[in-house]
Amino acid sequence: MALTETTMQEILSGYAARRQQHETERDLRVAEIYRQIPEVAAIDEEIRSFGLNAIKGYLQSGHDAAKSLSELRSRYEHLTARKQALLRSNGFAPDAMEIHYTCPICKDTGYVDYEKCSCLKQRIVQAAYDHSGLPNNLKKENRQAFDPAIFSDEPYQNEALTPRQNILNNLKVVEDAVAQISAGGCRNLLFTGTAGTGKSFLSSVMANELLSLGKTVLYVGSYDLCAFFDQEHFGERARKAPSALSAEAIEACDLLIIDDLGAEFRTSLSYTSLFHLINQRLQNEQSTVLSTNWWIPELKELYDERFVSRILGGYTIVRFFGLDLRVTKAIAGNSSNR
Ligand SMILES: [Zn+2]
Repeated sequence: MALTETTMQEILSGYAARRQQHETERDLRVAEIYRQIPEVAAIDEEIRSFGLNAIKGYLQSGHDAAKSLSELRSRYEHLTARKQALLRSNGFAPDAMEIHYTCPICKDTGYVDYEKCSCLKQRIVQAAYDHSGLPNNLKKENRQAFDPAIFSDEPYQNEALTPRQNILNNLKVVEDAVAQISAGGCRNLLFTGTAGTGKSFLSSVMANELLSLGKTVLYVGSYDLCAFFDQEHFGERARKAPSALSAEAIEACDLLIIDDLGAEFRTSLSYTSLFHLINQRLQNEQSTVLSTNWWIPELKELYDERFVSRILGGYTIVRFFGLDLRVTKAIAGNSSNR
């Protein structure tokens, strides 16, 4: 899990604010109870003075500590029972004078014995989702949503596998990569193939599986990423990049998915930045998925030999082919409407 410092600080200050709010609510309830039942206030006052009474009792009992302690204990039990009875008869809940934590396990601190509480872990996963940049329509794509039957099982052009056999192979590659990355390893994949052949779907499956395992994923279109590089360099004069994008997030994420590589508006600066980013993640053993509608020879023309050979050296090439699913879906939809 590598959330950015900023995000982690936001989460923890959220915890502090929540604690503060619950304490204030408790204080207000207590004030109201004291106002309605003055005897409860008197009981609390007496309990607060127990420390002092203990010393007094000890002196009066002829320094018999056990005797004075047992007297104090039975007095305390009597007082708390009386207090509970008073609360009940006045229509208050038994725990009305206590703090009502959102998470009683960690008392809204996020930690139990220096370990992250399950509520904090959950919150971090949620934050990772919120900051993933994953489009909403892709957030529900997962292994369970996968239906290989929508891929044709007929031979396709000169391919040795049918599109369905191929997508099942690709799914296996993705599942292996998820296992490897979730275990702390590094895996880089290049998804290449024409539009509508399942690349976005498998990128989202990979993103969602890793997010649900508590890893951080950043999903960004190549166009937005290059706009971001330009904006970082040229400031306000450059094209507007999505506000969620930050250098910190790009650097910290466990998996970076760059979608639609080759569709970006490239300046020489954004090209250099892109190359540098891909290179750096390879060196740091941070996983990356590149997804592109172009085949390798076309990529060589779009970029250059150096760029493509860097990718070929560090990435597993995952090919997608077949008819455009969006088109076949639309055709199927139309014919079933008739
Ligand atoms: Zn908790």
